[in-house]
Amino acid sequence: MYIDGGHHGNEHLGTELAFLVAEFYIEGWVDGDAEAVEVLQNTELHIMIMLNADGNDLDSRWNMNQVDLNRNYDHHWTTDETASGDGPFSEAETRNNADYMAEWMTDADLYVTMHTGTWILAYPWGFTGEMPSDWEMFEHIRDTIHETIDADLPVRNANAGIYPTHGTSRDYGYGVMGFPTFTFETDDEQFLLGTVQSLSDRLSVELEVMRYLISNVWYWRARLNVTSMEVTPGGQIELHVANLGHASTENASIQYVFEESMEVLWQSENFTVNASNTSDVTLDASNLSLQPGGTFALHYQKRVIDASTFVHQPIDEKMVEMVEPDKSGWLPAPGLLLVLLAAFGAAGAANGWPKRRFSGTIEPDDGENSSVDGTTHDAHL
Ligand SMILES: [Zn+2]
Repeated sequence: MYIDGGHHGNEHLGTELAFLVAEFYIEGWVDGDAEAVEVLQNTELHIMIMLNADGNDLDSRWNMNQVDLNRNYDHHWTTDETASGDGPFSEAETRNNADYMAEWMTDADLYVTMHTGTWILAYPWGFTGEMPSDWEMFEHIRDTIHETIDADLPVRNANAGIYPTHGTSRDYGYGVMGFPTFTFETDDEQFLLGTVQSLSDRLSVELEVMRYLISNVWYWRARLNVTSMEVTPGGQIELHVANLGHASTENASIQYVFEESMEVLWQSENFTVNASNTSDVTLDASNLSLQPGGTFALHYQKRVIDASTFVHQPIDEKMVEMVEPDKSGWLPAPGLLLVLLAAFGAAGAANGWPKRRFSGTIEPDDGENSSVDGTTHDAHL
């Protein structure tokens, strides 16, 4: 996950929160704090405390070129915004921040950018009043924060909760990188300066919100888990799948693959699994051909937003049940059937499917010697 602070050099409480988050986990690790240790053992936490160092030196919102860095990102960039720069990513700070995300953060499941000037945790979008594609996840986070941390902290989409903005790092992080993103406006008193101690007291609720977002990062995407899968080669796949994450996925499919080479032999049509929900799906498998060594995997997008990345996840073979195809007149000759069953049997044995329903063999009635080793024949149904 990624956190940055100090896009605006005069928003000290925002920069301070980025610092406090880093301090919490670093000192917690040293002290053996269970929460900090668990987070750092299981997640990669990247924190850029102060993006606009020149602006911070000058106590200025702008950078050295008098550009508003949080209007300079390549996402609906426009000259209609004040001081948005000569073009998208015209500034070294924004260009490098985006490059850092692209190089190190492609798989991030959280990006929080720290500001101050009002008090709100704002999710996308800024450029439009429309709700983000992953609104369920953002509303889940809003409700949980209100129930467990602070009922008064506004958690809203930025366009309505702050004001319309274009070219922000939050919209870029969500719309281009596909991360769940938030702008944390930490306080309505923008210019306060004080000792670290008084600021950490003042930002205690905000730090608690950050700890909640970080500790639960596992949930900020779809997490599919196949609980049963019945495969009828040449027929269909009956799938029962749970989504343990708080984001929906609309582009999930089953792939049949050679896992080592990642060669995709077959792919189902797409299906949807809603956040924190289960789906029963029937997929057309009429052109699925089993092969020795082939295995099944889930292929799905982490979130609904177009930019979010896909994950490839092998399906536990214990969940896969092979069903004997209906033999009523769908095969041209018994000889072929024997080859097909042999191929299925070999594939099943190689994969250790425990619930195979194949039993016995069928003798070819034409006297040919058909290969039954299953290694040299593809089963095309
Ligand atoms: Zn700001």
